[in-house]
Amino acid sequence: MNIALIAHDKKKDNLIRFVLAYKDIFQQHNLYATGTTGSRIKEETGLDLHRFKSGPLGGDQEIGSFIANDKMDVVIFFRDPLTAQPHEPDVTALIRLCDVYSVPLATNMGTAEIIIRGLQRGDIHWREVVKEQKENDGNGN
Ligand code: PGA
Repeated sequence: MNIALIAHDKKKDNLIRFVLAYKDIFQQHNLYATGTTGSRIKEETGLDLHRFKSGPLGGDQEIGSFIANDKMDVVIFFRDPLTAQPHEPDVTALIRLCDVYSVPLATNMGTAEIIIRGLQRGDIHWREVVKEQKENDGNGN
């Protein structure tokens, strides 16, 4: 599965701790992250991942494009609800696209934990089925 990892600055430490706690699971999947979040995860967990641009420079929108093309199966986005973000419209758009495409989205550690355990149990396998169906339909829409 393809998993996107994003954290606003004040939540980055939390996300690193979370990824370390579930490293065994994360290393079985393809990981993607926004720029700064991605460098920190790489450095502090040793996991390999694809880095998009930094969130305020378009990274959230790059992930949004993956979601719109059925290339992202889970989004873990530790957002900071107490600090104004210059790229708030991008944040809202990313969350909206998760809802449009029914992509499991966690915006805090409590939900992320449930999603990751569900992923391990196979609860998100339906994503593969949806993707296969779309490929067989051949329209990709
Ligand atoms: P960053 O972006 O990982 O480059 O800090 C995250 C965000 O603010 O969306």
